[in-house]
Amino acid sequence: MSGTVIVGTGQAGFQIAASLRQGGYASPITMVGDEEALPYGRPALSKAYLLGKTDAVGLELRPAAFFADNAVTLRRGERVMEIRPDRRETRLSSGATLPYDHLVLATGSRNRPLPVPGADLAGVHQLRTLADADVLKLAISQIRRVVVVGAGFIGLEFAAVCAARGLAVTVLEGAPRALARSVSPVMAEALEATHRAAGVVFAFGAAVRAIVGEGGRVTAVETADGQSHPADLVLVGIGVLPNQELAAEAGLPVSNGIDVDATLVTADPAISAVGDCARHPSPHAHEGRVRIESVQGAVDGARCVAARLNGQPVAHGTVPWFWSDQGAYKLQIAGLAAPFDRAVIRGDAASGAFSVFCFRDGRLVGVESLNRPGDHMVARRLLDGPASLTPDQAGDPGVDLKALAGSPRSRA
Ligand code: FAD
Repeated sequence: MSGTVIVGTGQAGFQIAASLRQGGYASPITMVGDEEALPYGRPALSKAYLLGKTDAVGLELRPAAFFADNAVTLRRGERVMEIRPDRRETRLSSGATLPYDHLVLATGSRNRPLPVPGADLAGVHQLRTLADADVLKLAISQIRRVVVVGAGFIGLEFAAVCAARGLAVTVLEGAPRALARSVSPVMAEALEATHRAAGVVFAFGAAVRAIVGEGGRVTAVETADGQSHPADLVLVGIGVLPNQELAAEAGLPVSNGIDVDATLVTADPAISAVGDCARHPSPHAHEGRVRIESVQGAVDGARCVAARLNGQPVAHGTVPWFWSDQGAYKLQIAGLAAPFDRAVIRGDAASGAFSVFCFRDGRLVGVESLNRPGDHMVARRLLDGPASLTPDQAGDPGVDLKALAGSPRSRA
């Protein structure tokens, strides 16, 4: 019996192995991952790890003994090069072939490259892996001026870290505002203000034309408006691309992610896909299908795959949620708000602690909370259950949202 082979030792890959064993799975489990480290969580890479508040051991999802104790074979530093669905086997970078009864693709995503001259100069970085963070951690201790390309989550988190370390930080963003694809304008504005207060400089509508350097090392970033932004270090954070090539080459349908059904099975019943690399149906997605890049998406999806392999198929329909720590501010998002047609503020946006309740056709579809963890928890219950919230109720501080949502236990 070949058991389950998991491609990728990241958040989703780890969770599948753990949940399989927790659910009583008795067949072999092999994880194959091209990173050398034990499975670890990425969120702290752009926050506590860069600030020296946690070390690599603190990022590990479990110590090495967990894998031995649970009979999970971990093949680290090895890449799956090819899937041969007709033979139910994979070919590894070591040349070995690994057969499977079931294969799970948990290959994650990779950073989108910046297609401009100079992007390969020394001092131009990206942040995805522990190895990337180690390089960056050392680099930011030796420089003064940082340019961040992209005002998305990673870019803003990195900007907050650098500002906290006393570096001069400029964020260049092609869109007219920060987090344009992820949060409402009012939330983006509030976050931007917190970064500005910490000394971060923003340039919006700033399309990067080239990165220039001297002696092979970056010295500045040039934008299409002719401006030159001096830099000792550049971080490029302009989004990710799903690692879907293995699946595509094996003949599986892909479309901005590996296409799977509600239980995360691909077109081949012996292959699942989960986490950042998978695009799945979701009752919370406006277009019906979505590819989610979050810890929660990876963990809940992995639990769904493990439950199915343990004989209890369930649809992957949990409410999506996400967080981002930016300096002293914690943003939490519940649901998938875009597109929404009405945004209602609860709390005081100027105070740095408020929530934005987003509605589409009168229905609550997403809630963004800044330093309001109570609102976030209630929002998850509201979005998950039968309770309905009107825009007037959302904006009325006299309405007890907790009571309206019902306690998790009191709901059927
Ligand atoms: P990953 O964790 O990326 O794991 C995929 C693994 O598969 C990688 O190790 C990859 O190298 C490996 N792999 C790919 N192809 C192959 C192959 N052919 N053979 C072998 N191995 C392969 N999410 C949040 O919710 N909150 C946050 O605050 C947050 N912060 C983040 C900060 C950073 C710096 C980053 C990079 C991400 C952050 N995320 C955050 C996103 C979150 O970490 C990801 O959504 C999550 O890791 C996805 O899990 P995954 O298992 O799908 O992919």
